[in-house]
Amino acid sequence: MNQKNKGLVSLAIMVVFTLVLIFGSNSIYKGIKNFGRKSATTMTPGTYTSTQKGFGGDITVTMECSDAFIEDVQIVGDAETPGLGAVAVAELGGKMLDEQTPNVDGVSGATVSSTAIIAAANDCLTQAGADIAAMDEYAKAHKKEVKKTAETLDTDIVIVGAGGAGMTAAIKAKQAGKEVIIIDKMPYVGGNTTKASGGMNAAGTDKQKAQAEATEDPDEKAALLDSTVENYIADTMEGGHNINDPELVKTMAEKSADAVTWLESIGAPLPVVAPTGGTVHYYLHEPEDGSAVGEYLVERYQETLDELGIEVMLETEATEIIAEDGKAVGIKANSPTKEYTINAKAVILATGGFGANFDMLSSYDSSLANAVTTNTPAATGDGIVMAEAMGADTVDMEQIQLHPTVYQENGLLVSERLRSNGAILVNKEGKRFINDLATRDTVSQAELQQPDAFAYIVYDSKYAEEKLYQKYVANELTVSADTIEGLAEAIGLEGDAAANFVATVEDWNNVCAGKKADDFGRDNGLVTLDQAPFTAIKIAPGIHHTMGGLKINTSTEVLDKSGNPIPGLFAAGEVTGGVHGGNRIGGNAVADIVVYGQIAAESAVNYIGE
Ligand code: ADP
Repeated sequence: MNQKNKGLVSLAIMVVFTLVLIFGSNSIYKGIKNFGRKSATTMTPGTYTSTQKGFGGDITVTMECSDAFIEDVQIVGDAETPGLGAVAVAELGGKMLDEQTPNVDGVSGATVSSTAIIAAANDCLTQAGADIAAMDEYAKAHKKEVKKTAETLDTDIVIVGAGGAGMTAAIKAKQAGKEVIIIDKMPYVGGNTTKASGGMNAAGTDKQKAQAEATEDPDEKAALLDSTVENYIADTMEGGHNINDPELVKTMAEKSADAVTWLESIGAPLPVVAPTGGTVHYYLHEPEDGSAVGEYLVERYQETLDELGIEVMLETEATEIIAEDGKAVGIKANSPTKEYTINAKAVILATGGFGANFDMLSSYDSSLANAVTTNTPAATGDGIVMAEAMGADTVDMEQIQLHPTVYQENGLLVSERLRSNGAILVNKEGKRFINDLATRDTVSQAELQQPDAFAYIVYDSKYAEEKLYQKYVANELTVSADTIEGLAEAIGLEGDAAANFVATVEDWNNVCAGKKADDFGRDNGLVTLDQAPFTAIKIAPGIHHTMGGLKINTSTEVLDKSGNPIPGLFAAGEVTGGVHGGNRIGGNAVADIVVYGQIAAESAVNYIGE
């Protein structure tokens, strides 16, 4: 640097230093940021706060305003779902600052959290006396057009979808020494896996043995000892109406115990074993602290990816598989700023099901056009469509599962675990109507036959401290009372219906006490309802799982219409069909993603070779 330039640099540093002393670094930054920007409104300067109900609890927005601009937005919502609502908490403030309006696009899949944040921000600006309509109009008129740039990346294995199957495959492939790129179209990882509420099925595990040794209850001990790989295969086939691919089921069952051990090795132990709905056996492996398995696993997966240095490319949507001589050799993908060509030696599709694609759903079953779905908006069947364009075959596409206990206002699923813990289903006449733990399709169909096609799930407070149960309270799904009579009244049952309700609970308690056999043949989850307060949630069936999908073999190779593997193309998880047949039993989605996610990685690694 010559003498003259040195002088200029020193002068500039001195000017900045003096300005910082006079005005403070923050206001200089704000001044620079808003330089040249026309103000859309005037406001009363100050700091405003507003609190609204989010998905997991309260969300508070604190907004600092000058006389013309939003200067700072702080959002606190610690109870929002990690990876979903938590993304809205982390991201929307920045968007509001950039766009200078409270009405920014929410985070897709996190509607409740986004809506709460946006409502709170509107409230803050109303308090400040801002002209919000003018701010919106200005923001709309000045929205920046982004010109996308092309970028080419090269890797060993590209994985499409960072739900449970994709993250399992990414970790396993990296552990085997391969380079991986994993992308997801959403601004968060986890997909539907985040919503998995029960546990993971497995048979022949150390946990089952340990719990069988520890329990004092002879029935539980017998059921645990009977929860063998053979019975797991038989129960999964029977639950799936025997249309499942027996080889796929056998592989999942045989590898399930190792999958539990593998999860433990990455810091995600599932030590508590519980009965699996639709069976009399104890396959369901759950986290120790009673949290929902999905959120628990996604958090551990994310940590493991971080430790392995794998960064998920978020908001990056695969649009096409690149084919060369009939082989899959990469993918095309789009992000908000880039058009990617990702060249790879192998492609793993882990894009999940199509439970949120109503065109696709109703093309297989027109009665589903207006149904509620428990799925994230990302479950649109993209992997199926992309692989079909390469000649892939599909199987069981019309097998779409309704989950029987879905809160209809927001599609929130009430876990089967409640029924395993003794909850019962009661109709609006105050009566039970089915073995509450029969398979999901049977219970859903029975509910649809009840007056007004809904039911209440009724439980007591033995498990009230568990995170899962607290979530339903936080989301205001529950109605509670100190007595069964009080609960009947609280949910609006009168006359005969109220009397039936009391008699129904009494009868259930007699079944649990071994005084009589259950009229509906229920023989598991026999836990009395006797600890006040008592709670009910109004539920009905909702779209839950698409059992059909890409046809694969036990090595997860995607098969073409002649039954031959498409070289270089592998698939795992809900994007595939055949594992669950005509009905998936609870706990098998997680078994599927962990077992087949690992196999997909192993097969891709073998395919690539050294
Ligand atoms: P699984 O249980 O089989 O792992 P999930 O639903 O948990 O399925 O995860 C599937 C993931 O795939 C979701 O995170 C979803 O956002 C992602 N996904 C779906 N389609 C695409 C696509 N076209 N490009 C990138 N990611 C996708």
